[in-house]
Order: sequence, then structure tokens, then C-alpha cells
Amino acid sequence: MRAIAPKRNHRPCKWLTRHAIFTEQADIAIDLRQRAVEIARMRSLRLPLLVSLLGLTLVRAAEGPPASAPLRWFKGNLHTHSLWSDGNDYPEMIADWYKREGYHFLALSDHNLMQEGQKWYELKQPVVVKGELNFYGGGEVLQKYLRRFGPDWVEQRETAGKKEVRLKPLAEYRSLLEEPGKFLMIPSEEITATWKREKTDTTPELTGPVHINLTNPREFVAPVKDADNALTIMQRTIDAVLAQRAKTGQPMFTHINHPNFVWGITAEELMQVHHEQFFEVYNGHDAVNNGGDATRLSTEQIWDVILTRRLAELKLEPMFGLGVDDSHAYHNFAIGKSNPGRGWVMVRARQLTAESIVRAMEAGDFYASSGVTLADVQRGDGRLAVEIQPEAGVTYTVQFIGTRRDYDPTSQLLLPPENTPARKTLPHRRYSKEVGAVLAETKGTKASYTLKGDELYVRARIVSTKAKPNASVAGEVECAWTQPLVGAKW
Ligand SMILES: [Zn+2]
Ligand SMILES: [Zn+2]
Repeated sequence: MRAIAPKRNHRPCKWLTRHAIFTEQADIAIDLRQRAVEIARMRSLRLPLLVSLLGLTLVRAAEGPPASAPLRWFKGNLHTHSLWSDGNDYPEMIADWYKREGYHFLALSDHNLMQEGQKWYELKQPVVVKGELNFYGGGEVLQKYLRRFGPDWVEQRETAGKKEVRLKPLAEYRSLLEEPGKFLMIPSEEITATWKREKTDTTPELTGPVHINLTNPREFVAPVKDADNALTIMQRTIDAVLAQRAKTGQPMFTHINHPNFVWGITAEELMQVHHEQFFEVYNGHDAVNNGGDATRLSTEQIWDVILTRRLAELKLEPMFGLGVDDSHAYHNFAIGKSNPGRGWVMVRARQLTAESIVRAMEAGDFYASSGVTLADVQRGDGRLAVEIQPEAGVTYTVQFIGTRRDYDPTSQLLLPPENTPARKTLPHRRYSKEVGAVLAETKGTKASYTLKGDELYVRARIVSTKAKPNASVAGEVECAWTQPLVGAKW
């Protein structure tokens, strides 16, 4: 997503609260570099106490991690932007926010680049955009950065009258924030492309975005250019990533971003992609049309269409759904701003490493959330079961959604209303109600569904009665989505 011009913040109280907490925590935060200096100084004094402390440390280090750690849930966001592309804060400030908010892992996925190499960011005069001052890395944004990490860490220079701040590469800043078992940074890139179909005598020019996140790459992957459709971009990008994975041996995966952003990808294109397991069912950016509109499907409807047709007709693997932030705006929190903290994944793994997170997600051992926490998900042996970690005063509805094998496969094109401007993107199709039907529904904090044998798949959607704080669009309630359980004979 490209940044959307910010609007005036209508919720100053909330912002002031967050800001106050943030500043206070920054003041009391342990500065790791300072601690390292202190240890070096004490070491030079050879204090007996230190020797015994170091001895204890060595014993602990020798014990190492347990041979088989228990499975745990790790919370993470795999779609985030920083000043390296079109986000409006420094990468270590963003990572610091996520860590303080209780996330275990974070991928900063800037557009068409990896956070590598030398990059100096030019500080320009703040600009008022739609009534709000945008600092573009300077002003208060730079002051916050200086307060949090100190003038020794923040590198500034002035050349030829230009003031610049150096953007730290991931390899430099990650050690300030990472802690084994507690917080992990995962390399990432949002591979950002556009398809375009030239105007003909009978059709207008058509164009749309295709954005694909690559989690844990070793090397940069360039966007596909000169494609006249979304499917070509998706397939060529995924094939390039598979080649990199085969060459390097590094576990990595792509996920298709926000298919409804500018309506760039239709269900019929998405369903045809080979070797793709993931797409975003929930994206917290306010311009991605998660809910669709009168003539276009929601991301959940797209999910049901692609699951149904991949399993029934195309004989392709199912796709899993992610929740992500796609955050760009870190200074004012309000509807209409692409803030952090709206969508995430909970991944069940034994270790907090990029490799174990990738492998657990490839196995489908994760769920997407926009607020609801699940204590347990069981998905296998013909049964899908969820247990919710309830909040006081909130009630939950669990819907088991799926398609039966004998579904009605008919569909109709959804055309725009008459007398509206010609669209530059492809029309969606509406399928019968048997595609993605609610097969069972339960209220409460525990629910399970046992396959009867005629289902292509079943997935669970958990809907709460709790209004989502700082929602991306008005009226959202907190939800969670499990991955689909596939019927035996697809
Ligand atoms: Zn995007
Ligand atoms: Zn994005």
C-alpha cells in the first residue's frame, strides 16, 4: 500500500495517552549499549562479585535451550512500512513499538527494497497535508527518535545544505531489539508491481496493483514489469522466490497482499496461482476494501471462492489467510490512518526463529486475528475445534464456514451500476450461496465441527461483540479466522 495522505486526528485524548506512555517507557528503558559499556568497565575492575555473576552466566549458557521446547503461540505482524519506503517513522522506532505492545516477531516490508546498504534520508521542511503537519522524518519525529535511542546512535549529517539522517539497515539495528524467545525481526520486502492492459478500440485502458510480501528472503526480488494481468505478476514473482529458496536453502514464503486494494486482483486470478499458500484476509490499512462493496467481493468471500475452486476444480493446495497491519502511520492514531496494531497472526511454534515461524505457517499452524485471542485451535483428524480466551463482558459467535462437494458452481459477472465511469480493473463474479456457506454456528467460548464427509473444506470465523479500538473502518468488531480444514478426498 502506498501511504494515504493523513487527515486531522479527531481523537486527541487517545493519542495523548499513548504518547505519554511511550515517552515514559522510553525514559526508563534499558539501553543495551550502555549496559555493554558498564559490563566492560566492571570487567576491567575485576570485581569478585562480577566474576561470580559471570560464572553463573557461563553455567546457564552451557545448559543452552531445551532439546524440545514446548509449543507456544507467538504474535507477529508480517506487513509494515518504515521511512525506508513510505512509512513515517524510523525502523527501530517501529520495531520498538511492536515489542512494547507484546508482539514476538515483526517483518518490516518496505516497497521494492530490503533494508540493506547505505541510505541517507533527506530531511525536508514539514508539509501540511489535509490539515496535519507531516514531518517526513524530521521535527518531532526526529526528536522522538533522538530521545529513544540517543544522539550517539542517531546519525545525522549536513552536505551541500541538505540535512540528512542515516536509515539503519536491519543488520545494524536488530540486535538492539531482539531477545531470544521474546522478540525477533524477520527480513522482508513488499514486492510492488502494477499490471497494465493498453486501451483498444473496444476496451479502455485497464490497470491495477499487485503487491506480494516476501517473508525471510536472503536476496532482493525485483517486481515483474510489463505484465498485462495480475496472474502473470503473481506467478513469475512466486517462481523467482522458489528459485531463491532452492538456491539458498533458506525457508521463506510469499503472501499475496490486499487483493482488493484498488481492486487489483480478482478471485479468478488468485485461485490460479501455483505454489502459493497465503493471502491477506485482513489488512489493517483503511484503503484496502476488506469488506468489498456492492459489486465486489469481500476478502472473506474471495477466500471461499478460491478455496472451493482450487480444491474442487483446479486441484491446487488450499490458501491460508493472514491478518496484517500494513502500517505506515505511527504518530497519530485514528480511523483513516494506516496505524499499527490492527491485524496480526498468532503462530504456534517451539522456537522463535524465522525458520520455525515459516515452517509453522506453511503447516497452517496459525490463525489471523483483528483482536480475538484463541487459547487453542485443533485442525486435523476430520475435526476443527477452537477455544477462545475470553474477555470479560464480551460474547463470541463461532461460525464454521465451508463448501460441500455438490455445490452449485454457477456465477455471474458483477457489473458496475449503469451511468458510472468505466472501471480500470476487472469485474468480480458472484457465486452461489453454497460457496462459503455457514455450515454451523455456535455461541460461547468453545466450539468444534466434525466433517460429515461431503465438505471440500471448513474454516472457523470467530466474531466478538467487542468494537475494535482504532478500527481501520467504522463499525468493525474484533474477529479471528482459523485456517481451513480440508476434506479427505480433494
Ligand atoms: Zn501494498
Ligand atoms: Zn504494504
